[in-house]
Amino acid sequence: MESAAATVLLIEDHLPTRAFLVDNLSADGFEVLEADCLAAGRRFVRTSFPDLAIVDLGLPDGDGLELLRHVREADRVAGCLDPDLPLLVLSGRSTDIDRLRGFDRGADDYMVKPFSYQELRARIRALLRRTRRRPGTGRLRVGALELDPVARQVWLHGVPVALSKKEYALLRALATEPTRVFTREELLRGVWGFRSMGHTRTLDSHAFRLRKKLNAAGDAFIVNVWGVGYRLVDGAID
Ligand code: CA
Repeated sequence: MESAAATVLLIEDHLPTRAFLVDNLSADGFEVLEADCLAAGRRFVRTSFPDLAIVDLGLPDGDGLELLRHVREADRVAGCLDPDLPLLVLSGRSTDIDRLRGFDRGADDYMVKPFSYQELRARIRALLRRTRRRPGTGRLRVGALELDPVARQVWLHGVPVALSKKEYALLRALATEPTRVFTREELLRGVWGFRSMGHTRTLDSHAFRLRKKLNAAGDAFIVNVWGVGYRLVDGAID
């Protein structure tokens, strides 16, 4: 089945609804991550790379709309949170104003409870089909360097390169726009989050190790732009 391996994050506090959906989505071949509140949902979108999220709006610790905003406003440089994550709202709020508000905040689809499971499944599949055609999900190539953002794997001259999680995130951030100079602040915010702002030494030591690994064969991929930040180039030394 085409969507068999897709991971669906389900953010729903109503236990019977959640259990029903977990049973059915699992039976239909989806990997399901369960969150019963907004905080757990936010944690999952950051750490577990779901392919789609089903978001209830009335949650014990806040409004599901906050999660929509959190995702859509994510920094594209980050690599740890995809601002294009498909979001399907599943809510008891049924007025036009509620639906418009949902779409306004970035929902890709909106379903009102009570719902038909068959229809929900059809909408999930439609959203996943669209996502998989998105150019951003393919492999990235920069010279002899290749990245698979879905598998989080990197090859250099066709040979897999072992990178730590942060080294990978840093490379992924730089690869979103090769040749552009990313400032240290951008990279710190994107890869380490706001709390590490100012810890440029952390960034520099990771960039140093990443550079060493990628430049081992005499290429130059990671370029330190003094006083500004870093950029990724195609490896040819000019
Ligand atoms: Ca609820």
